[in-house]
Amino acid sequence: MKPFANKPRIAFFDFACCEGCQLAVLEMEEKLLELLSHVEVVAWREVMSEKSDEYDIAFCEGSITRQEDVERIESIRDRAEILVSLGTCASIGCHNALKNKWPMSDVVKLVYGESAGHIDTIPARPIADVVKVDYRTLGCPVSLSEFETVFKRILTGQAYEPPNQPVCVECKLNDTLCVYEKGIVCLGPVTRCGCDAICTAFGDACRGCRGLIDQANIEAPARVLFGEDLHPIMAETARKNKLNREEIMAKLTVYNDTATSANREDSADGDG
Ligand code: SF4
Ligand code: SF4
Ligand code: SF4
Repeated sequence: MKPFANKPRIAFFDFACCEGCQLAVLEMEEKLLELLSHVEVVAWREVMSEKSDEYDIAFCEGSITRQEDVERIESIRDRAEILVSLGTCASIGCHNALKNKWPMSDVVKLVYGESAGHIDTIPARPIADVVKVDYRTLGCPVSLSEFETVFKRILTGQAYEPPNQPVCVECKLNDTLCVYEKGIVCLGPVTRCGCDAICTAFGDACRGCRGLIDQANIEAPARVLFGEDLHPIMAETARKNKLNREEIMAKLTVYNDTATSANREDSADGDG
């Protein structure tokens, strides 16, 4: 990594996603204008009609879900000196990877019915599964403090990796009351922090949108709610939410392709 001598040219691209991460970046408003004063924006479909294929830094949002996406991201990789995966769809697969649990032929028939035949779809993959990614950002939508950090680190030639501690660490730093105390099931103990625990700060549960920490003990959330000799707070939380073990495990796979990636080879049956 080295700092850019002149103003680098940046471009934004989207693959399969809701484009909410780009919208979140736009909502930075004045802070975004300050960041953009250090670069030249040459392509950003969501905000401008001009576009150029000459860029230094590519921010890429969304998952790779079609063969044509593979070719497009490879072409972007060839052109960009720095490639950033923007948000959870791009970095770990997010909701798109839920389809990997089923054969692709079943998925397209379910969605498109009789018209399924011409649909190009392959098991969803994060961008780093297809090309080299230089910087990863997470969150659904992307954590804006992390976007800003990554933006500045790129310009100053410094590396960045999302932190590998659970969201609980940020709750403690912020002095936030644990939502389990209020009978709310929270995935923070196994979710990667870096969002400043924003949901729990407002009294809501962490739903795991930044993905699992490395070597997350994904059995633990179910065990502390449904094991024997439960702590009274956990027993009350389990009773109040009427969740069973399978429902807890399903919550854990909403944003994470971990549980579904093992099926990719099986589900890529070429019917898509
Ligand atoms: S990570 Fe979430 S907000 Fe961002 S594009 Fe994907 S679904 Fe939308
Ligand atoms: S609210 Fe959630 S993230 Fe925060 S300390 Fe409690 S379990 Fe951990
Ligand atoms: S608290 Fe959890 S759900 Fe909320 S932004 Fe952070 S990682 Fe995502």
